[in-house]
Amino acid sequence: MKKWFKRLTDDNVDLEEKIFGVILVIGTIIVVFSSIVTFLEDLSLFATIGTLIALLIFIMISFVKHKLHKDKLARILLCYTINCIVMPITFFSCGGIDSGMPLYLLAGLFIIIPSLEGIARVVCLLISLITDIAMVGFSYNMMDGNKAKTQFPKEILAKLTLEDRIVDMVASLTLVALFLCVTTLLILNAYKREREKSNILYEKVNELSRRDELTGLYNRRVLFRKFDNIEFYEESKYHVAMLDIDFFKKINDKYGHLFGDDVLRKIAKEMREFCDEGEYAARYGGEEFVLVFKSDSEEGAYKRIEDFRKKIESIKWEEDAELSITLSGGLVACKDYDDITPVLSTADKMLYTAKKSGRNRICCDAA
Ligand code: GH3
Ligand code: MG
Ligand code: MG
Repeated sequence: MKKWFKRLTDDNVDLEEKIFGVILVIGTIIVVFSSIVTFLEDLSLFATIGTLIALLIFIMISFVKHKLHKDKLARILLCYTINCIVMPITFFSCGGIDSGMPLYLLAGLFIIIPSLEGIARVVCLLISLITDIAMVGFSYNMMDGNKAKTQFPKEILAKLTLEDRIVDMVASLTLVALFLCVTTLLILNAYKREREKSNILYEKVNELSRRDELTGLYNRRVLFRKFDNIEFYEESKYHVAMLDIDFFKKINDKYGHLFGDDVLRKIAKEMREFCDEGEYAARYGGEEFVLVFKSDSEEGAYKRIEDFRKKIESIKWEEDAELSITLSGGLVACKDYDDITPVLSTADKMLYTAKKSGRNRICCDAA
């Protein structure tokens, strides 16, 4: 039982599995309870035999499920035996339409939904519903107001006294309500947990699709989207710098690709620190980066990016104390443009000029 409760709250156990467990356990409790009550009430021999058969069926289904590991068969057996064998026997022998039995009929139909799937679910629902309707229809023969009422022997069909009917209704209502509430709670909790899980997953996937895996910087796609928020009017403070590591191929060749990756990560970290609110750093290509930042003047922007270039140049690398990794860059002021495409192509041209004129420098757009 302790294990059962543990499985009920275990996130790794399927919802269907949990509901099936609840049906088996609460069903067995109901059947045991009914067997005792029918025996004590001396309801009818048929009623006691009926509830005992139901108990045997529940034990058999548990055996098929847990010992033979035939889960699907256990589910089919459960739905058909409850609705087409247990209910017809107990319906009449335990008081019929005047007792709490109609509530059990409803619960019997309800268990089909989470236990079976597809066409098997529809067929079982139809057969069970027809069985239930037939039973309710047959109850006409036993009703007091019916002139052609058939007298069935007390040993077979029970007729509850008024008091018994009330007690039976209270007990049935409690058990069926307990079953329906627990099952619905399980479904709602599982739905809530699944929704939380998928929200977290969505956030993760969204973040992964926005970031470059190696450096953690925004990727090219996000960079272009960020430009939508940049003003290109006369007083725009935004500047774009395209930066490229000098002789990176040689660094890779000499110190290895893993060290090359470390260099990219370190430069990316410095870029993140460079950025203030509303400024962005992105990996534009292999060893090319783009910084989008604000400055009141072109001189101020040049100074900021020059300081950054010098900072990277002055980094001491453990692999080689003599090693100095440098950047070349092209700097463009957004205020001179009305779209990002020419800004980037001018920055690229400026970067090319910086490379041509000896590297390790920033060239500005003279537009
Ligand atoms: P230049 O000064 O003209 O820019 O020379 P360069 O060697 O930096 O330029 P080139 O375009 O010839 O080489 C770029 C190198 O960057 C080649 C490629 O192997 C390396 N690279 C690109 N992406 C990565 C990466 O993710 N990790 C590492 N380790 N290397 C990369
Ligand atoms: Mg390069
Ligand atoms: Mg390059």
